[in-house]
Amino acid sequence: MSDTRHTRVLIIGSGPAGYTAGVYASRAMLEPILVQGIEPGGQLTTTTEVENYPGFTEVQGPDLMIKMQEHAAAMGCEIIGDIITDLDTDSRPFRATGDSGTVYTADAVILCTGARAKWLGLDSEEAFKGFGVSACATCDGFFYRGQEIVVVGGGNTAVEEALFLTNFASKVTLIHRRDELRAEKILQDRLFKNPKIETLWFHQLDEVVGTDMPKGVEGVKVKHVETGEITEIPCKGVFIAIGHAPANELVKDKLELHNGGYVQVESGSTRTSIPGVFAAGDLTDHIYRQAVTSAGMGCMAALDAEKFLAEQEA
Ligand code: FAD
Ligand code: NAP
Repeated sequence: MSDTRHTRVLIIGSGPAGYTAGVYASRAMLEPILVQGIEPGGQLTTTTEVENYPGFTEVQGPDLMIKMQEHAAAMGCEIIGDIITDLDTDSRPFRATGDSGTVYTADAVILCTGARAKWLGLDSEEAFKGFGVSACATCDGFFYRGQEIVVVGGGNTAVEEALFLTNFASKVTLIHRRDELRAEKILQDRLFKNPKIETLWFHQLDEVVGTDMPKGVEGVKVKHVETGEITEIPCKGVFIAIGHAPANELVKDKLELHNGGYVQVESGSTRTSIPGVFAAGDLTDHIYRQAVTSAGMGCMAALDAEKFLAEQEA
């Protein structure tokens, strides 16, 4: 039999945006429920050192997220390990269905579902996912001790992953489609100084090559973006770090979106195109996409939800 829980504010997602919304909504005495989703703690649980969250010169991503969870819980936020599989924004109260079978009804909803790693979409990438192809160096780097690895991408994630992987790999090749990285300068500096890292400019991953028995990667074919020339690089691990796309599955047909899938919010607020539904963090933001900006938007969303509920009640 399915269980139904009612809350004034339902927070969906447990990254920096969700937990910060949890802190503020709890302190506004709204008794929020926060549903964590498949990745409790969000994207920062897939990294190691975080050096740009104010108050921490350096903190491990997973530790920071445990502190945020504890903070939200201590303020009174009810944190539930469930995944929302459907959100009905036509009914009032709003109605969210959990994978557990629980139905959550809510007077206001704060969406904080963040973003997920993008893939190149190659058949060979799909074929070797989990068998040498990964999008998470902290999760899988350990398997490649003493091996050669390639990383694809030119942003902060790609550079951080390449640096982190030098803890295990004998050599890391960073493959980028241009001759300029978009990663922060401090990270680029560390990358170029690292003797284990080679950068291959103007190349795209064309194919992952490997064996079926046992299933594993043996190398990659890369293509020069101008000449089309194909080169083969031997490696055992391939890390794809080409950015993230907003996790908008629950609302992509219901809310206004922008820039290819980010939830549109009114300027200077977290109000979406449906009154009572608020959005915060990487789900709405195609520009900054940082832990601290996500946390800031989580705060705004809780304050916006509080104001919305007060107006409804008045
Ligand atoms: P996310 O952290 O993406 O969390 C989304 C949450 O939503 C997850 O808990 C997930 O389980 C949940 N969710 C999704 N769908 C559902 C659903 N259907 N039901 C319930 N819950 C759901 N930023 C920095 O400022 N500094 C850094 O050093 C830094 N390092 C990074 C390293 C890596 C490898 C990556 C990938 C990102 C890094 N970032 C860093 C960016 C930062 O992690 C993100 O900007 C931030 O985590 C976004 O927070 P968020 O709360 O919007 O969402
Ligand atoms: P990103 O900044 O969007 O960079 C994606 C990179 O992948 C770009 O270099 C892009 O190339 C390349 N790329 C995209 N599609 C590609 C394709 N189809 N084929 C080949 N290359 C492709 O993504 P990100 O590095 O994951 O970072 C996401 C956000 O998280 C950013 O806001 C970032 O600042 C934040 N973050 C922060 C930290 C930190 O603060 N230390 C760490 C990690 C992430 P082009 O450059 O040519 O477009």
